[in-house]
Amino acid sequence: MSKPQLINTVAKMQAQSDTWRGEGLRIGLVPTMGFLHEGHLSLVDYSLSAADRTIVSIFVNPLQFGPKEDFAIYPRDIERDIKLLAQRGVDAVFKPQTVEFYPPDFSTTVEVTHLADGLCGAMRPGHFRGVTTVVSKLFTATKPHLAIFGQKDYQQAAVIRRLVRDLNLDLHIEVAPTMREADGLAMSSRNVNLTEDERRRVPALYQALAMAKRYIECGERDTQRIIGEMRSQIEKELGGDIEYISIVHPDTLEDLSEIAGPVVIALAVRLANVRLIDNISAEPSRK
Ligand code: AMP
Repeated sequence: MSKPQLINTVAKMQAQSDTWRGEGLRIGLVPTMGFLHEGHLSLVDYSLSAADRTIVSIFVNPLQFGPKEDFAIYPRDIERDIKLLAQRGVDAVFKPQTVEFYPPDFSTTVEVTHLADGLCGAMRPGHFRGVTTVVSKLFTATKPHLAIFGQKDYQQAAVIRRLVRDLNLDLHIEVAPTMREADGLAMSSRNVNLTEDERRRVPALYQALAMAKRYIECGERDTQRIIGEMRSQIEKELGGDIEYISIVHPDTLEDLSEIAGPVVIALAVRLANVRLIDNISAEPSRK
């Protein structure tokens, strides 16, 4: 087990990536906010198998948190993260310093419109601008051939794909499936901030998504009927503040009133200290 290199500055990261590129090695990047779990590590495993060198970035990006959001209580444990990444055989951990990434006169942002407007974008103004700005900076610092994101953050992955296409960025984006706990809860760093009682009840979210998927596979076409069922199930089993439950087109992320092909069912719920999101893909079975 060899420890990954810990790189803190953009210049050092770029120099390392230039060296690897000069040797003809393919670089994979897994951007994270740390406090790693098996979901992150599945993306790491993908990169280790698809690239010659794997960089994991760890940065709790202040730009993507709203003023009333959980930046201050977002969990952090860099020692533990590095240990987990060493066990996996990751080559480098890039942990930018906020002062270098965002100097006081920082004044450039990168924004994807439309795709970033609905779902979480409607609930978290400026969030995706923060994401696309930091991801652009992570790309220019690490110079990857490949970057891996999770389907868990479906809209984020769609927005980043669009960023890469629209700006002709010279890298490939891969999206890996959502890893779940045994009871269906999507793994998330934020799950540690759930109370015991919330943790017991949150599998209701996955159960509602799985129920909707079954309805769709059995031929239900009316999205409002499905959303209504999901809403009452979540209200009964979990409570909390349902920010949205939407059934959207997988590419445009536009709300659908009728199901005629593949869809994504996505939701966000706010509990006392934690906002949780999850989604599932579904498709009517062809008769
Ligand atoms: P985060 O640290 O939450 O910013 O997540 C970093 C990356 O890990 C993002 O691409 C997420 O979509 C992905 N990710 C987070 N949770 C999961 C999960 N349960 N399964 C797979 N990927 C995940």
